[in-house]
Amino acid sequence: MKITRITTAVVEANYDYTFIRVEADRDGLYGTGESFFAPGLTAILHEMIPLLLGKDPREIDRLARHLARKASGAGSTAGIVWNAISGIEAALHDLVGKHYGCPVYQLLGGKLRDEVRIYADCHAGGNVESWTPMLVPREPKWLQPLGSSFEQPGNYEPEAYSRRAREVVAKGFTALKFDLDSIVLLTGEEMHRPLNNVEIDRMVEVVRVTREAVGPAIDLAFDCHWRFRPSDAIKIGRAIEPFNVFWLEDPCPPDNWRQTAAVKRACGVPLLTGENLVQCHAFQPLLESQAVDLVAPDVQKCGGLLEARRIADLANLYGIGLAPHCIASPLGLMASAHVCAASANFTALEFHGQDVPFWDDLIAGDPLLQEGRVTMTDRPGFGVELNEEVAREYAKPGEGWFR
Ligand SMILES: [Mg+2]
Repeated sequence: MKITRITTAVVEANYDYTFIRVEADRDGLYGTGESFFAPGLTAILHEMIPLLLGKDPREIDRLARHLARKASGAGSTAGIVWNAISGIEAALHDLVGKHYGCPVYQLLGGKLRDEVRIYADCHAGGNVESWTPMLVPREPKWLQPLGSSFEQPGNYEPEAYSRRAREVVAKGFTALKFDLDSIVLLTGEEMHRPLNNVEIDRMVEVVRVTREAVGPAIDLAFDCHWRFRPSDAIKIGRAIEPFNVFWLEDPCPPDNWRQTAAVKRACGVPLLTGENLVQCHAFQPLLESQAVDLVAPDVQKCGGLLEARRIADLANLYGIGLAPHCIASPLGLMASAHVCAASANFTALEFHGQDVPFWDDLIAGDPLLQEGRVTMTDRPGFGVELNEEVAREYAKPGEGWFR
């Protein structure tokens, strides 16, 4: 079997959902993968296409390693190259699953569970929003009548958190995540932001009222986006211990895992990190130092499904759980779900599309998420297909559509 054609398409949603389609020399056989957004991503993808044409798509790992070696030879093992490799690797999985008539989880060793639990990423006041690949706010056509709700006054008041938490639980989700750093972000520095007691008290109050709003049975995680120094993160961690959070995410800058490890040693709150790390060896130092309780590789940029599975297994060796980061379309979320179904230490998978009005409609058939879960089916490949009629309506201007 040979790869005959590779094309891309980009949907301008809250982020750029970047799709890669790999076709083979078998009657209409193709696979579709998704990459995490990045500036210049489709240009990188198109540079990679000649390296793949004529190759056997069943040699998934060989092809991914070949792309990585070539990119490394050119001195560019930076993250963006890995976004591209991850999307191609995913498309190969979808294609090979379809070729053998089996779901992708079978290619990963078979499923350990029939449903994958989803946690909903939430912003307190709503997150109708859209961002360029450099995280500059933008207003695509679909957003103009709605208006961005991202930085409205009152968004970061405790009542906004409790109201939003109740709304999302009413949709059937049993695990939620809120941003904790947003409360102080508007006036602060980007990293190593020193916190005063009043600010820490506000964060603790947000955690308290959110817990009170949803009761003890709902899992609640809080994200700090790498903002704080360990001494302040420890104060936050200790103060929110009574509220039994699911995890505290990225409390400290990522440049030295000993900062995060210090937080973990000093308080009883589970910690999570890893959404920007690429390849399993990047996770090794933080796993070896037991700096966290959970890792969050992003399947759309960590190197692909096999790499995510390797990260999961390495973490499992240290008793550390898997809770993948995911801001993808339903197709990318489903690719991640196949890894989650096949990983022993899986805890929960992120969903970041609540306020994208067309998110469910981007794939054909029933909505993917039911009662905060994804059900793994016997359908071949990822088991979902883009609804191109709908998806194309939101195509990013200037990008080709699978041509
Ligand atoms: Mg995060």
